Amino acid sequence: MLTKISKSFHWEMAHRLPFHTGGCRNIHGHSYALTVEITGEPDANGMVLDYFDLVTIVEPFIKEIDHSFLCDRSDAVVKDFLLANGFKTVFVDFPTTAENIATWFFERLSTNFMQYKNIRELRISVSETERTTAEVSGEIRIAPFDKRVFEHQAHMLE
Ligand SMILES: [Zn+2]
Repeated sequence: MLTKISKSFHWEMAHRLPFHTGGCRNIHGHSYALTVEITGEPDANGMVLDYFDLVTIVEPFIKEIDHSFLCDRSDAVVKDFLLANGFKTVFVDFPTTAENIATWFFERLSTNFMQYKNIRELRISVSETERTTAEVSGEIRIAPFDKRVFEHQAHMLE
């Protein structure tokens, strides 16, 4: 029977939204919460996925961004300042909204969960505050980035 399991993760992170005309254009931070929900068929031991394995897969992504500034690469205003002062910065190619962060997690995590053939769907929710949540969900699939890698490798074999 299809069964859902989920686990939550937390981290602290700064960001800003350059396009925003209100408060979000300022440098500020959130105590983010991520919930990873996996749907699949339980194995012979009654597990969709060992929570230990789930943590092993997700934790490196959390450590990478914890106490960092998540910076849209096109944000020239803060980019140079962060680099010049050696602040922990993670550059991405999208405005750092909760929606985009959820999609970013979905694409990278779905690649990792592909190795488990019993897992069907992934749901990712990202909360910036206790009252705001962005959610993406879908079937486990290869992330666009990895598709490019595969296409590149295929081209090299020709
Ligand atoms: Zn914010």
